[in-house]
Amino acid sequence: MSTSIKPAAGVLLQTHGLQARYGDAQALFGVDFQVAAGETVAVIGANGAGKSTLLKSITGLLPVAAEAVLLDGQPIGGLPPEAIVARGIALVPEGRRLFPSLTVEENLRLGGYTGRPGPWNLARLYALFPILAEKRRHPATSLSGGQQQMVAIGRALMSNPRLLLCDEISLGLAPVVIKEIYDALPSITGEGMSVVIVEQDVLVAQRVSQRVYCLQEGQVSLEGPSASLSREQISHAYFGI
Ligand code: ATP
Repeated sequence: MSTSIKPAAGVLLQTHGLQARYGDAQALFGVDFQVAAGETVAVIGANGAGKSTLLKSITGLLPVAAEAVLLDGQPIGGLPPEAIVARGIALVPEGRRLFPSLTVEENLRLGGYTGRPGPWNLARLYALFPILAEKRRHPATSLSGGQQQMVAIGRALMSNPRLLLCDEISLGLAPVVIKEIYDALPSITGEGMSVVIVEQDVLVAQRVSQRVYCLQEGQVSLEGPSASLSREQISHAYFGI
């Protein structure tokens, strides 16, 4: 069956009836999700709601139907992760996954292997996160948690993505560090890049995004403009109460 799904104007990424499973266990049940060009979208939801699974499905880390994930209206579901990075989607994975035996700069350079053209390079990253320039020759895992998160974001930016997906980048970090990291967001989106953030802290999610999706048990329970969703709407969508 061929798709005749036309992307709405300005839509960069779309999932359509996305289903995902781990073996016999289904984790996503028909998720419809959209990100417009230049938009920052937050995904919230309780533990196990399916937030990471959504990002893994988009980035080729889980087998999904080709036409369940569309980039510019073209099916990309189930392509290998490197093919998806090459098309301009980069993931900052939960837990950062830095290469412990490599320096900060070597980790960053690895992100640029696709050779996609664009504004991001080492000089630009070091201007965004000056501490990384200072620590460029240190083993990445000798850095603080917040600095390691900057390396993980930088590595993803080095692939010059059109869409940056960030999985719980604030997890385990002090509020002042979380603020420092999210303060970098306007410099990233300033180039017209789209960003999806999975975030446990609902207030942070609302503050940094234009639109919020809430997932509950593998389905979208709420979607709307970040600024106008009420606390009641969110807690109902989050907990189902
Ligand atoms: P968290 O905030 O805890 O990371 P999440 O919203 O990101 O939660 P997912 O990690 O996407 O949730 O998990 C969705 C569902 O899939 C859960 O029921 C979870 O137990 C299950 N799941 C996640 N990873 C695996 C896996 N590797 N194998 C089997 N089931 C998994």
